Amino acid sequence: MRSLQSEIEQRGARIFELVNQHPESLFSRAAFYQRMMALSMRDEQFKAQLFRFVDVLPSLRRSGEIVEHLEEYFEDLRDGFAPLVHTGVRLARIAPWVSGRVLRWNISGMARQFIAGKNPDDVMKMLRKRRAQKIGFTVDLLGEAVVSETETDEYAARCLDLLETLARETRGWTDPLGRNSELFPVVNLSVKISALYSQMNPADPADAIAHLAPKLRPILRRARELRAFINFDMESYAHKNTTLELFKKIFTEEEFKDWPRAGIVIQAYLRDSEADLRDLIDWGRARGARFAVRLVKGAYWDYETIKSRQNGWDCPVYFQKPESDVNFEALTRILFENESIVTAAFGSHNVRSIAHAQALADELGIDPSRFEFQFLYGMAGPIKRALVEIGYRVREYCPVGELLPGMSYLVRRLLENTSNEGFLRAKFAENVSEQELLRNPCELLRKSRNGVLPRSNNVTKNAMKDRHPSHSRSLEASPGDTYENAPLTNFVHQENQDKMRKALSEMRTRLGKEYPLVINGERVFTGKTIASINPSSPDDVVGAVAEAGIAEAERAVKAARDAFEKWRWTSFEERAQLLERAAAIMERRRFELAALEVFEVGKPWMEADGDIREAIDFCLFYAQQMRLIGRPRLTQQVPGEESYYHYWPRGVAFVVAPWNFPLAILGGMTTAALVTGNTVIMKPAEQSAVCGAMLMEILEEAGVPRGVLNYLPGKGSVMGAHLVDHKDVDLIAFTGSREVGLRIWESAGITRPGQRELKRVICEMGGKNAVIIDSDADLDEAIVDCTYSAFGYQGQKCSALSRLILLEENYDRVMERLLKAAASVRVGNPEEPGITVGPVIDETAYNRILNYIEIGKSEATLAYQRKDVPPKGFFIPPTIFTNVKPNMRIAREEIFGPVVSVLKVRNLDEAIAVANGTDYALTAGFFSRSPANIERAKAQIEAGNVYINRSCTGAVVGRHPFGGFKMSGGGTKAGGTDYLLQFLVPRVVTESVTRHGFAPEETPRYRDEFLWPKR
Ligand SMILES: Cc1cc2nc3c(=O)[nH]c(=O)nc-3n(C[C@H](O)[C@H](O)[C@H](O)COP(=O)(O)OP(=O)(O)OC[C@H]3O[C@@H](n4cnc5c(N)ncnc54)[C@H](O)[C@@H]3O)c2cc1C
Repeated sequence: MRSLQSEIEQRGARIFELVNQHPESLFSRAAFYQRMMALSMRDEQFKAQLFRFVDVLPSLRRSGEIVEHLEEYFEDLRDGFAPLVHTGVRLARIAPWVSGRVLRWNISGMARQFIAGKNPDDVMKMLRKRRAQKIGFTVDLLGEAVVSETETDEYAARCLDLLETLARETRGWTDPLGRNSELFPVVNLSVKISALYSQMNPADPADAIAHLAPKLRPILRRARELRAFINFDMESYAHKNTTLELFKKIFTEEEFKDWPRAGIVIQAYLRDSEADLRDLIDWGRARGARFAVRLVKGAYWDYETIKSRQNGWDCPVYFQKPESDVNFEALTRILFENESIVTAAFGSHNVRSIAHAQALADELGIDPSRFEFQFLYGMAGPIKRALVEIGYRVREYCPVGELLPGMSYLVRRLLENTSNEGFLRAKFAENVSEQELLRNPCELLRKSRNGVLPRSNNVTKNAMKDRHPSHSRSLEASPGDTYENAPLTNFVHQENQDKMRKALSEMRTRLGKEYPLVINGERVFTGKTIASINPSSPDDVVGAVAEAGIAEAERAVKAARDAFEKWRWTSFEERAQLLERAAAIMERRRFELAALEVFEVGKPWMEADGDIREAIDFCLFYAQQMRLIGRPRLTQQVPGEESYYHYWPRGVAFVVAPWNFPLAILGGMTTAALVTGNTVIMKPAEQSAVCGAMLMEILEEAGVPRGVLNYLPGKGSVMGAHLVDHKDVDLIAFTGSREVGLRIWESAGITRPGQRELKRVICEMGGKNAVIIDSDADLDEAIVDCTYSAFGYQGQKCSALSRLILLEENYDRVMERLLKAAASVRVGNPEEPGITVGPVIDETAYNRILNYIEIGKSEATLAYQRKDVPPKGFFIPPTIFTNVKPNMRIAREEIFGPVVSVLKVRNLDEAIAVANGTDYALTAGFFSRSPANIERAKAQIEAGNVYINRSCTGAVVGRHPFGGFKMSGGGTKAGGTDYLLQFLVPRVVTESVTRHGFAPEETPRYRDEFLWPKR
């Protein structure tokens, strides 16, 4: 008996033989496409620009715009393509109308290569042709990026319509093989689950399933009547578990439990895929009816690696291409071994993977008519034909839809065709030998370093570098950047959802406790308490915190002052280690702290987790930064003299924090002060005083000495004002409202009798943040990001979007989608996972925001207001005003709630002028695909944090140092490399080392701190 490998080689050789009989280049149709792809493979920079140009093209309406974009995208090209583009651009300038049309026509041609038709009728022409070639079909409706429930309803309706057309038009069509045809219905529809619910949140699969199932049932019912097959496509990893759960749930329901014409995709590039497949098979056996699995490698490799790197997650995909290939083969075996319950379809263009399936089926005695090979429309035509000729069942995956919704699909296909590691490129563009193409992937894996790679982040970085060689420059960190952020919790994992649920229920039992002040290490009850309440349920007291008055403030200043004399001489290493221990404790108590935030400040799960992550990051980042600046630095190298620059702490810091990032901001300012050697009086906001108490507890456990940190909640107007004015307070770190910030700034400017130092004020205040959506912006992204930036955490972030600036040209298109998106966001009690909009912090905020809504109604037009908010708790309906003018109060004053003002402008000049026309300069956003406009926005928008093509909230420590200017703050950057300097005074120590004209030849590097007594 021949080995499996030699069977594979023989079958592979046969396929290649047939492929070579009908030579067709990889890019069979349009010459323009062929040329573009060939260039893309040669030049990574060109490829990136081409894909971006392809991406923006459908949204450009005027020919002049097309020509401008062409020039902007390609003007910097270095090599051979440049003259071509420049000639094109010159011609285009002369006749933009003609050139625009020609380009659009050519790119549409490229898209038509992969998109089988514009609509159901259109696609039938092509399906008939394929039928003549004995190729079956599965049709997929393009339109993945839905931003609202209206759009998901439209998608569901289009699916039904498509089913009807396909069934009607294919009546009488028979199975090309004529055997086992009951397993392979003619009509086959592939469905993208995420297109059926716009609020899918990985943390809440139950909610997604509750919304998806009712949308799917009518489609399944009709499919059943029409004897059609429905396949669930698999998308990004974030949706994988929900898609699998939904599949199992819906096909276990009484109505569908015996229905065999359903299938789902398994992605072999996922490390979880074997466990998922085995679980599906067990489920199928328990159910007792057949189902199908389409095995693919997976289309989102780049996306998954980027996403996991950005969030610090374990990467769900394999890093080495042969690992995916090996796994594909292992899963092929599992499918065949369970052929009695599962019908296999292999979605691969790789002749090795295909030949392996054929050979293995033979070895296991499975008839070739009991499985099928599936291919993407427009790709690998010769392989499809070869398989038909050999006698296998072949089905083509045919996307249907307009160009605009099809763009992300098209870009994925372009990436696939030009991917360095892809089979198609190797075979059809690079003519790699057949022997090489048929090699056992296990061998390749063995040859690569140590075989299977670990799942660490560094490896992802390297894998990405390998994948994007010309981008590697941009992936290299700046010399000072060695900081790796703490990961976010990935709620896609059930385990993390369970931990959060458990933490919430445990926290519920601990609500209502009393918390003392901590002064000089002593617990102090004052007889007066501040009740911190749950804004979702104001009758619930989260905790009662002792309220400090003037007397306690005085005690705290004395304690901090006394402790300073010792703390200032503690080595920075010791202080840095304190922060690191605190970070470790926070990590250990992560879910508990997040649960507390849900109750105390109404944060949705992911926002709460994000806050803890940020607090951890502040600890670790500031510890690292202190190590970088802590040691004295030589100023210049001159003989005979040593001059060292170094820092001293300022003294006693009074930290005044807001409630909206109750651990991150309070913790960030406090740890910055501590690590720099200052002692601290920490005043949390009254609304989040329990979170403050937790932070105190954590820092005490980490070992902060008595008096170095004092926890002092109390009334800002009484105890707070007293400390601001106090002669013994040297530094005030404040984040909060403009009103209080300016008062502190002014008051701190007055020198009191006995005051030692000029007070330093670090002052972070509010914003009136604008986002501009340019006429060529990607609305699928812009709408989702703007909706989140405006309404996420109820608009209570200082970075939140509150002014949306739209160009006349796309105003209607944006508004139509925005209003529907706003109507779709989930509003509710944030104890439930997946909520976007919870309650605002308290009754005062509630009344203030409602008052602004009344002002808005009198000044502008109420375009949208949500109706269905919970009756109990401080829930404000997401609200959108249009016809807003820049001088109106709702366009100028900070509302700090889920209220957006939309301003219509004529052009980008006016948009930037309006964006800059406020007192504030905190965050701003710009959505555009015009490189020139992006450059302009980068240069001209007045904000401390300018975000291009992404949400304007969610700054990450070290990556997006945060803080504004104008009336948003004093220009400091929390989480930035220069932040700690605010807490320090610089000193220079100069020593002449010359004695009688003699000096050492080389000045020794000072390796220690100036500490006394030395320990
Ligand atoms: C009919 C059909 C339906 C499909 N449906 C889906 C679907 O629902 N969901 C989906 O995600 N995809 C789907 N795909 C797309 C499919 O994932 C890609 O076409 C496929 O991965 C390409 O693999 P290949 O075997 O043809 O080519 P090959 O060139 O052998 O493999 C390329 C694949 O290897 C993987 N890979 C690339 N680089 C690396 C690396 N460094 N480390 C590890 N792995 C790597 C990637 O998955 C890449 O796509 C479908 C494909 C077909 C043909």
